[in-house]
Amino acid sequence: MHTKNNDLNINRLIEVVKIDYIIDFHIHSKFSHDGKSSMEEICTAAQAKKINEICFTEHISATSAAPCYFNLDMEAYSREIERCQELFKDKLVIKKGIELGEPHLNPEALIPYTSDKKLDFILGSIHFIGETDLVNFAEDKSHEESYITYFEEVYKCVCIGDIDVIGHFDLLKRYAFDVHGSYKHADFQELIHEILRKAISRNIGLEINTSGFRSSSLEIFPSQLILRDYKELGGEIITTGSDSHTADMVGSNIPSVYLLLKQLGFGYVFSFDKRKPEGIRI
Ligand SMILES: [Zn+2]
Ligand SMILES: [Zn+2]
Repeated sequence: MHTKNNDLNINRLIEVVKIDYIIDFHIHSKFSHDGKSSMEEICTAAQAKKINEICFTEHISATSAAPCYFNLDMEAYSREIERCQELFKDKLVIKKGIELGEPHLNPEALIPYTSDKKLDFILGSIHFIGETDLVNFAEDKSHEESYITYFEEVYKCVCIGDIDVIGHFDLLKRYAFDVHGSYKHADFQELIHEILRKAISRNIGLEINTSGFRSSSLEIFPSQLILRDYKELGGEIITTGSDSHTADMVGSNIPSVYLLLKQLGFGYVFSFDKRKPEGIRI
């Protein structure tokens, strides 16, 4: 038993000898405005790929310019989760999560969503700064200004948001890469450390989001250097997510991320149940 993890109030530790318990904790179905597949199609694909556990993380945003601005039918979402849980019983563990965009902007208005007792997991993400989508954010700004403003927004999200894990920590690089190239970790390390320290103090973990492999930067979010810093500062909670919006992408590149985590000295990946982390030995 990994005693250090007991401090994290973990429900259970799943002991796995080999890398054979694959989890994908970042999936969008048609309940998200940009999801293309039904929940059942995604579950069928996950089962075919021998994925053990998935968590749907449908979008809700507190930014008025976002298409998912306080827009998720939680009742219909819950009904479909429960129908799939029954349909795939004993074949696939299915969890209910949400991805909150900019949760620091209006935490009180998000309470009707975050207080759902059956919710397993909340990702906190930055997709907008002000009314500007990250897709266009770096276009008219310097490299430095873009990243400082972005990381400051992530910091606010981590300070205020009712979240379990930071989604795609350095997502800006997906869009800024084509404008400014890659960013140097050392240039923003102080700010990155502030975010990581705050996250650790609030028991907030980091997601490794494999959709970075599908972007021009060809690199996971966050970078290995951020993962190394998180480990050195005492962080332990890591989830893995494909950020898939189509059934065929579910679980993509997650086994290779387990190998990377082992190389970086992490002993566990985490799933969540009713918002409590559960360590899975890798
Ligand atoms: Zn996202
Ligand atoms: Zn997402």
